[in-house]
Amino acid sequence: MTPTHKVCTSCRETKDTALFGTDRRSADGKHCYCKPCKRAKERARRGPTKREVELARGTKLCRYCEKYIPLSDMVPQTRKCRACHRAECKKWAGENQDRLKAYSYAYYHANKDAINAYNHAYYAENRERTLEQKREYYEENCEKIAVRNSAHYFANRDRVLAQVANYTELNADYLSDRRAEHIALTSDIRSEERRHRWHADPEWRAERMAKMKDWQTANPHKMREYSLRRHATKLKATPPWLTQEQLDEMRSMHAHANDCYAVSGQVYHVDHIVPLQGKNVSGLHVPWNLQVLPADLNIAKHNKYEGPDAW
Ligand SMILES: [Zn+2]
Ligand SMILES: [Zn+2]
Repeated sequence: MTPTHKVCTSCRETKDTALFGTDRRSADGKHCYCKPCKRAKERARRGPTKREVELARGTKLCRYCEKYIPLSDMVPQTRKCRACHRAECKKWAGENQDRLKAYSYAYYHANKDAINAYNHAYYAENRERTLEQKREYYEENCEKIAVRNSAHYFANRDRVLAQVANYTELNADYLSDRRAEHIALTSDIRSEERRHRWHADPEWRAERMAKMKDWQTANPHKMREYSLRRHATKLKATPPWLTQEQLDEMRSMHAHANDCYAVSGQVYHVDHIVPLQGKNVSGLHVPWNLQVLPADLNIAKHNKYEGPDAW
């Protein structure tokens, strides 16, 4: 009959034979040490494991930078520190830009709604902070950004223009408010700048005049409205006490403008010296407030009256 218990020669305790390992060389087929004792002895013979050493020391050797790195700065289950891991990732990303781009493009399109919803929510919650960060980034990198933007624009011109048109359509009200606000703030500066440039830059002047012509051709209804309004103003500005001779004199100035055109080949307009719808003063539609001016000068003048010496 096989004994059910055995004395361990190491710890001297009597234990169940199940707690002893198999040893075919011994008489009863069991090891003389119990399992826990055997393990302890083996461990003592072998010395501490690598893991135990590392835990005791609190550091691990990174096989990339070959430095001893605190365990908290190591990537778990690897022999790589976090700094080396980041550097490797960066290097890989640099070498696989196209793959990454394709991946993030696909990911974005597969999750577009969720991503946009998240971004909008985040922006709404952190508006001030986001704007501040953006402003800082812009100030630090404005040159880089300008180069990148113009490259992107020329590479994707059609797409960008389509996006802009779409955005403009979706945000028409908001944009017109913003535009009005901006114009109110800057109109003085801008019209002053334009007036100088009109004189100093004939190429720009020609371009502007061509654009104006295009606009007039493209917006005949607006032009009709404009001339009607102007006509009405003119009527209101025409004093009732003008004589027939004075009215005729004014009409003859248009004939004079036509003659000037016939002689010089340059278009002439009849112009109010003090504009009828001026910014500061409103003139009258009377002969002594009329002059014949080359058309380009007249258009440049707009409705500004700078005093008698300005023109
Ligand atoms: Zn034992
Ligand atoms: Zn490292």
